[in-house]
Amino acid sequence: MSASSETADEAPVMVSHTETNDVTCGSSDVTKTSSEVTCEVLVIGAGISGLTAAYEIQKRNPKTELCLVEAKDRVGGRTLATQIRVREGQTETFDLGGQWVGSTQTDIMEMLDELGLEVYPQYIQGTKHMQLGGDAIRRYSSTIPNLGSWWGLVQLQLFIWKVDRLAKKCSPLSPCSDRSIRDLDGVSVEAFARQNISNTAALEAIIAACRVILGCDASRVSVVHFLAYTHAAGGLNALLEATPGTAQEFKVKCATWVWTDGSATDGVLNGGAGALIVWPDGEERSVRAPAGRLCSSFRAEMVALQTALSFLLENPLHADDPVVICTDSQSALAALREGPAAQHSPLGGAIWRALRGLTAGDRQVHLQWVPSHCGLEGNERADSIAKEASNLAQDQAPIDVQTAYRAAAREADTPQHVLLRCPALMATRHRLLGSINPDLEEVRSGAIVAALGAAHRSLQSRTATSQL
Ligand SMILES: Cc1cc2nc3c(=O)[nH]c(=O)nc-3n(C[C@H](O)[C@H](O)[C@H](O)COP(=O)(O)OP(=O)(O)OC[C@H]3O[C@@H](n4cnc5c(N)ncnc54)[C@H](O)[C@@H]3O)c2cc1C
Repeated sequence: MSASSETADEAPVMVSHTETNDVTCGSSDVTKTSSEVTCEVLVIGAGISGLTAAYEIQKRNPKTELCLVEAKDRVGGRTLATQIRVREGQTETFDLGGQWVGSTQTDIMEMLDELGLEVYPQYIQGTKHMQLGGDAIRRYSSTIPNLGSWWGLVQLQLFIWKVDRLAKKCSPLSPCSDRSIRDLDGVSVEAFARQNISNTAALEAIIAACRVILGCDASRVSVVHFLAYTHAAGGLNALLEATPGTAQEFKVKCATWVWTDGSATDGVLNGGAGALIVWPDGEERSVRAPAGRLCSSFRAEMVALQTALSFLLENPLHADDPVVICTDSQSALAALREGPAAQHSPLGGAIWRALRGLTAGDRQVHLQWVPSHCGLEGNERADSIAKEASNLAQDQAPIDVQTAYRAAAREADTPQHVLLRCPALMATRHRLLGSINPDLEEVRSGAIVAALGAAHRSLQSRTATSQL
């Protein structure tokens, strides 16, 4: 949903709010990169906060002309999942930013619930490894770290108690109202830790914890901010641990991501359907199918959805995980939203049957619109797969009645049809040329073209009159 491809250091897209409504921002226009657009509501920054603001506004009034601008070339802000090479030829998905939620984060838990996203407890059993206070790598299996000495542990615990005591006096709304906190203004977390801890391993544990909690070095964070942050969380242990009620309590269940796209030459011929399926472990598969020699873009999109859903049904990998299906076809989503009973085509019925099959065991399946051609990797790849699919043999691909009817209607207006093929003008052709099936050379004369044209117009007007 990025509005520009600029980097964070460059100026983001300029947006002005004017009284004229000549340019629409919002879901249909998310790729806009012009220097000036108009909208009713402007949200700056597409991190969790900006996305939530935009989501809530659209939820309350879907007609709001809303523009969400982001300086980077991706949404998500300080949340970022990325692929990292773990060994030759193999990558794994790693979160480089926010990834845990806790039951005390009631707003985000509510939103996860609303979006149908599930959480699972952070796994904390087993042996942990920690390298602190030198080269030694120490192991431990309880929640208490192995610092190599009891004295180190005592110092660590005393420090945690001290932070908790001070944090109680440091409310985020008025952090410096207490004198003992005011005295700490200007002191970094690292300096504060050094003042209170002499054991190297305990000191390094706190500095490492600060990096993990705040995402930056302890020397760059004010201890007052750290105390206010601890106050908001309800204590330092709540920030450090992965037990119920703490910050690392749950992770959000990954979904199987499915990107679908359809392609049809000029929106009428050689349909291709493509889908890219990405499972939670990063494994991928692309599937493709021809969508018919005569094919509308809508039909190609629907075939893409059906192809992907059938593949998921036949290949039940990660069958407990939710599925998010991303399509750039608003018309396909609108048609499906009507419900299974309101489908006008066998294809719509087949998609609904597949959706029912997939959700039979309480599995969550979300159909999600995404903008096309604005750099969403999954959408771009599904687009390429669909284009390849349009070159597949089309002989066996079914064509539905509506598509055939539309193709016939298009054909009926072409000069070739009127002059050479239209069955309703057979008698006229026979009278003029002595043949019901002439070739192009035979009808080239201006008089014949004029006579057949007149017969066609008369036929059209008779048909129109009879329909009144
Ligand atoms: C390493 C790390 C781990 C974390 N772990 C957790 C965790 O496990 N659980 C948890 O709850 N929280 C965690 N957090 C914190 C959490 O990620 C953040 O609190 C949250 O993502 C902040 O979201 P935000 O939308 O407020 O801000 P941001 O994510 O910073 O988003 C702001 C967005 O605005 C854009 N922007 C800024 N200025 C402009 C401008 N002028 N024009 C256009 N765009 C602009 C930025 O590019 C950015 O995309 C972690 C943070 C880090 C760094």
